[in-house]
Amino acid sequence: MQVRSDTARALALLARQKRVWPMLRRGCEALEAMRIRTLSVGASEWKVQCNPARRVSSLAGSETSRACFLCSHRLPLEQESLSLGDYLLLCNPYPIFPEHFTLASRRHRPQRIGECFGDFLHAARSLEGLTLFYNGPQSGASAPDHLHFQAVTGGYMPLEEEVGRPAELLYETDCGSLCLMRSPLRNAFILRAQTLAGACGLFARLYAVLQERASGDAEPRMNLFGRYGISGGWEVVAVPRKAHRPRQFYARGAEQMLVSPGAADMGGVLVTTRLEDFEKVTPALLCDLYAQLAYVEGETDNWFSASGDR
Ligand SMILES: [Zn+2]
Repeated sequence: MQVRSDTARALALLARQKRVWPMLRRGCEALEAMRIRTLSVGASEWKVQCNPARRVSSLAGSETSRACFLCSHRLPLEQESLSLGDYLLLCNPYPIFPEHFTLASRRHRPQRIGECFGDFLHAARSLEGLTLFYNGPQSGASAPDHLHFQAVTGGYMPLEEEVGRPAELLYETDCGSLCLMRSPLRNAFILRAQTLAGACGLFARLYAVLQERASGDAEPRMNLFGRYGISGGWEVVAVPRKAHRPRQFYARGAEQMLVSPGAADMGGVLVTTRLEDFEKVTPALLCDLYAQLAYVEGETDNWFSASGDR
């Protein structure tokens, strides 16, 4: 595959940083040695990671009182960055993916997709071959106070294959379409557009529909996945969220599970950080966890018809 220049620059940065930054090198080596289980639920495949290095991120809450770790003056000394417009591309020293980058806004500003969806599309295009994702401030972002996206190895998350299957068409314009994918683990809205303006228009419609179900939140709870180059344009997948964490996170004793699902987990890569959590995951437990976190099967039916869009 021909990679665009920014993707090539990002991959070169990662190779360079692995040589000079021991923490990143250890993180990448741990990922290579990590245990992964593959489970199936219906037609969905799920990867379960045993990734102890993610423990700190998993336990991080929505607290904004701590010093912001994405502000450029607080980055580790060894960390280099690539300049991508208003964002800095950084290597994640605690990776979930073989290539795992953070795109941090140069400015300390809150995580709000409504104000930067165009930036998300631009980044997906300039990093073609990687998959971009966004964690809403209440849907897995570990720095909800500092706007950021992540860019990761394309094709690693099972979701990327799943969204290529036939889905229900909800809405269509001259520039693109919006479809619904139902799943026992998480339903998703799939937006496809050939132009930037077309993608922004469709996202505005989707955002309004999700907003009707958001009560008192900073924005509708969601995770977003973006790719460019799929059928010649953008493909953005939105997974609306009910909750950030399942009840098992707060349980005590044997039921407790320290998971804090974000986009990777919604994409089909459940990140566990303790061996006991990793080992106890079953298809039935996946169904229980994800039905608490996302809308499943018929739960998103009529969202569009109810708002007069069909
Ligand atoms: Zn900051």
